[in-house]
Amino acid sequence: VKPLLLAGVELGGTKVVCVVGTGPDDVAAELRLETRRPEETLGAAAAFLAEHSFDALGIASFGPVELRPADPAWGSITTTPKPGWSGVDVVRALRGAASVPVAFDTDVNAAALAEGRWGAARGIDSFVYVTVGTGIGGGVVTDGRLVHGLVHPELGHIPVARRPDDRHPSVCPYHPDCWEGLTSGPALMERFGMRLEDADDAVREEAAELAAGYLGAGLRTLVYALAPQRIVLGGGVASLPGLHERVRAMLHSELAGYPGLPEHDAAGFVVPPALGGRAGGLGALVLADEALARSV
Ligand code: ZN
Repeated sequence: VKPLLLAGVELGGTKVVCVVGTGPDDVAAELRLETRRPEETLGAAAAFLAEHSFDALGIASFGPVELRPADPAWGSITTTPKPGWSGVDVVRALRGAASVPVAFDTDVNAAALAEGRWGAARGIDSFVYVTVGTGIGGGVVTDGRLVHGLVHPELGHIPVARRPDDRHPSVCPYHPDCWEGLTSGPALMERFGMRLEDADDAVREEAAELAAGYLGAGLRTLVYALAPQRIVLGGGVASLPGLHERVRAMLHSELAGYPGLPEHDAAGFVVPPALGGRAGGLGALVLADEALARSV
């Protein structure tokens, strides 16, 4: 029996990863490119796919995207500030002439699936994956399934209480007090006047302290609303010094002893991701695998 091959495309805001294979230890072909104009970017990805044979295709895209299968715009990016990309039908452009099952989801949802299958949330039924970088994105897995509804969750825009001494404007154009607006990479960069990668140790310590406070506050909401068994916290901001330890401490103080579960205090409750930059592309393979399972 010939093993089934899967294809996955991670369409990120800055880079695209196309992969053919079945998992992290079995990648038959891979293409990485920068995200440019839609025709150029999707054309290159489609050309790569046309050179390979596969039995299902998973597409993981930056958002916001239309995920409701019954909607005529399913498979498209809806409205994005990214020039030229609003309304682009990503699925149509990538699937081309292929008549295989196709699954479509957000890049963060796909990354969550990959961390669940092969990474830091392996064996966990209910977890939240949060990435803190250019923005804040998150995927919610409950009983082994991603949460979807009218739209995908928008964890970056949950409200957090401002630190009393923090008068810096939010970088979110919609909300003066949301998670992404106060503690994403750009929010921290504006506060400290530099890229965190370029900052010295003292500034990085200060940024870690501030970010951990806001991250702990936001995670409190996720803990109470979603009852995760684990939180996978990644992205550029999560690589600040001691960030996971600091966030665990802040979450502990935010929960204030309620409901008093020792699991919430355990080192394994808030963890870094295990797949790093591969999570999105591998997650697209999980989407393809799920599309295949639904089709038989
Ligand atoms: Zn916001």
